[in-house]
Amino acid sequence: MTSSTSGNAYGGKYAAELIETAARIIAPGKGILAADESTGTIGKRLSSIGVPNEEDHRRTLRHLLFTAPGVEDHISGVILFEETLYQSGSDGTPFVDVLKSKGIIPGIKVDKGVVPLPDTDGETTTQGLDDLGKRCAKYYEQGARFAKWRAVLKISATAPSPLAIHENAYGLARYASICQENGLVPIVEPEILTDGTHSIEVCQAATERVLAAVYKALSDHKVLLEGTLLKPNMVSAGIDAKPASTAEIAGATVQALQRTVPPAVAGVVFLSGGQSEEDASVNLDAMNKLPGRKPWALSFSYGRALQASALKAWGGKADNVKAAQEAFMTRARANGAATKGQYKADANGRRLGHTESLHEKDYKY
Ligand code: 13P
Repeated sequence: MTSSTSGNAYGGKYAAELIETAARIIAPGKGILAADESTGTIGKRLSSIGVPNEEDHRRTLRHLLFTAPGVEDHISGVILFEETLYQSGSDGTPFVDVLKSKGIIPGIKVDKGVVPLPDTDGETTTQGLDDLGKRCAKYYEQGARFAKWRAVLKISATAPSPLAIHENAYGLARYASICQENGLVPIVEPEILTDGTHSIEVCQAATERVLAAVYKALSDHKVLLEGTLLKPNMVSAGIDAKPASTAEIAGATVQALQRTVPPAVAGVVFLSGGQSEEDASVNLDAMNKLPGRKPWALSFSYGRALQASALKAWGGKADNVKAAQEAFMTRARANGAATKGQYKADANGRRLGHTESLHEKDYKY
């Protein structure tokens, strides 16, 4: 046996299952709902509509999203926070079973947040590797089939620094390897925040440096790329700079991916990163409309851009559940169409969703 086929290298005993799971997630017309907000982050969402951060309210919000009529037509996977993976809906059915009965794959956030890297310009590394193997085995047992680990980078005069790039790339690779050993498809998420005044060119250069380092690290760790998904930022100008156009964002993002992401990677599922709901759909659609080489599916794994108007429509009131589900499905349908480059505004050319920015400075998840 050569080293490339021995032991757990390249997906190990789960290789075939990992490839199949990744393929199901990036099925045309479908993408991921990121509903894995930590208890603190979901608390901020609930407080924006005047609802206390209690388990029952978190359950009700997630229940309405997971049971929206037709959700399975556009959502192939849902990322859950640990509480939700072990939680049941209001009628007593475990959420994992609710999702599986619709053919939606449950996923799990496995990182434990970020800590500062000393002597850098506020750069960070992600925690959670120590007991990760044991936790992944438990999550698989509970029904999860994919995982998320968010590494966070930023742009400034000195960032992303070589140290932050190296540290986060190897953290992601070690995480990905542990997930695959335990049957979970790793979503590899090196998010570069939009905070700053930088140009789109600076963001493209930073994105390419980060992604090149990530794929070197994944290769060193013998990660089965066919059983992984990449969750990157779109390439854009900083939030305090002159905004780039849709065409510029789509062109720069696809070019950055072409230069750095191997064709073996199953799919790219973008984060929304504080874009408005509508921009997140329009930009994804523009990328899928672009001619040129795109060997991976380009899809979505949105949190804020799938949930913002649903949250407002709900407002914590039982009477509004249907309206909230409709608002969520409007975004799910829009993004599903965008994965095929088929998103259209309404007959009058009006945009269908909210266009206000969902940006939060120094975003914590
Ligand atoms: P946003 O789409 O709100 O950026 O979040 C997605 C996510 O999962 C971040 O890790």
